[in-house]
Amino acid sequence: MKMLNYINGTLVAPISGDYLDNTDPSTGEIFSYVPDSDERDVQLAYEAANAAFPTWSKMAKSKRSAIMMKVASLLLENLDRFAKAESQDNGKPVWLAESVDIPRAASNFEFYATAILHDSAETHEMEDVALNYTMRQPLGVVGCISPWNLPLYLFSWKIAPALASGNCVIAKPSEVTPLTAYLLSEICIEAGMPAGVLNIVHGLGPKVGEAMIVHPDIPAISFTGGTATGKHIARQAAPMFKKLSLELGGKNPNLIFADCDFEKMIKTTLRSSFANQGEICLCGSRILVEESIYTQFKERFVEEVRKLKVGHPSGDVNMGAIVSKGHMEKVQSYIELGKEEGGTVLCGGNRVYPEGYEGGFYLEPTVIEGLDYDCRTNQEEIFGPVVTIMPFKTDEEALMYANSTKFGLAATVWTSNLNRAHKVAAELHTGIVWINTWLLRDLRTPFGGVKQSGVGREGGFEALRFFTEPKNVCIKF
Ligand code: NDP
Repeated sequence: MKMLNYINGTLVAPISGDYLDNTDPSTGEIFSYVPDSDERDVQLAYEAANAAFPTWSKMAKSKRSAIMMKVASLLLENLDRFAKAESQDNGKPVWLAESVDIPRAASNFEFYATAILHDSAETHEMEDVALNYTMRQPLGVVGCISPWNLPLYLFSWKIAPALASGNCVIAKPSEVTPLTAYLLSEICIEAGMPAGVLNIVHGLGPKVGEAMIVHPDIPAISFTGGTATGKHIARQAAPMFKKLSLELGGKNPNLIFADCDFEKMIKTTLRSSFANQGEICLCGSRILVEESIYTQFKERFVEEVRKLKVGHPSGDVNMGAIVSKGHMEKVQSYIELGKEEGGTVLCGGNRVYPEGYEGGFYLEPTVIEGLDYDCRTNQEEIFGPVVTIMPFKTDEEALMYANSTKFGLAATVWTSNLNRAHKVAAELHTGIVWINTWLLRDLRTPFGGVKQSGVGREGGFEALRFFTEPKNVCIKF
């Protein structure tokens, strides 16, 4: 199957006529082809988006909202098809795509389609001298670039607020997982999205992504991906004074205190370690455990990890395949590094070859102990099913370990002591803190990281603010 770009309301082949192989990570075999687009396709998309902007940005919000709600409902009507496609492209279990990824993509459209109906502007009165009101105007043609781990979930998380606030969009999914973005373009046509409002250009980051970043008339880029790519984008875009939202890597700590609800903590820690094969930027990969329960935690956690089933994503499994051969090898190299740095692999560490799918990219969930907090394994993002466990003695020591990396995306704290929960939450250098839970998201709340985990916030009205420019109008009485 050959995918196509979605430009000016129609599905079109890339100008180059070239396609890239798209591999099913559960089998290791090529199953489709994705356009190898370049700056010429981006330029076509820009022209279409620019032409659509005056009408889309001035359209009544209720009408814009209705089109986006239609996209959401068509996504849910096609849940099964989308979930299977997401799983085949990414390697994640079908049940996960069906219960999380695709419903969340629909919620993203619903959330922003309705948010704009309830948004309002500020006024600042200067007693009887003057009145200021602040308009929030769309930016024009904006760029959205997303990664492979939560393909449609993160793609729609950017596109939806951009469209809702009146912008026209050029979007690029990861070339590793383009399929649901392609299916989304079919749905947009069916939903009656006006031509040029959303354009999806497939291809490689250094070609398509780069063309978007350096395009002189795209004033804003919303990017989710690795920290190294984020740095490159910031370097390119800064001299052009573009607005940037960068959601980057993480090395998230879990702080587990002896006074926590142990059973609840174990159940959720399994999930926060290995959900989506550990390929979620929010996964807790450094598990810090209070010394008095360290042995109890270690024995029970390892026992439960050994029970996790790894296998073909269509089956009754906890973990499917790693997204690509290259990424699997990167994760394996970190397991080797962990051993070289003096760690002991308590369970996992090996490739898995499910019967009938021996060519797929499967890894065991892996737990490593005995590493220093500042070694590379504990400082660099692995982004796979690998966690380290480490004891701590005091709250201060736990916080020092937790805050020791260059990242600052999210942290999870397990404690029944309310004072400690508040104090630790305030001291953590992260954009998100979960207490006694993980990945519980209210779409109204700000989302993003500090330090090298990113710049800016997505989520709720923060995203609508990013995709609009405030303009103050001052009227003298
Ligand atoms: P990458 O940074 O490699 O790629 C992300 C996107 O950027 C892809 O679409 C990629 O294209 C594109 N890209 C690559 N090079 C360029 C360039 N020069 N100019 C413009 N675009 C470019 O990240 P991964 O896809 O490997 O995703 C994993 C990373 O994403 C992890 O570090 C993870 O932590 C992070 N992430 C962060 C989240 C957050 O909210 N903070 C959420 C989820 C993931 P292509 O792949 O097609 O070449």
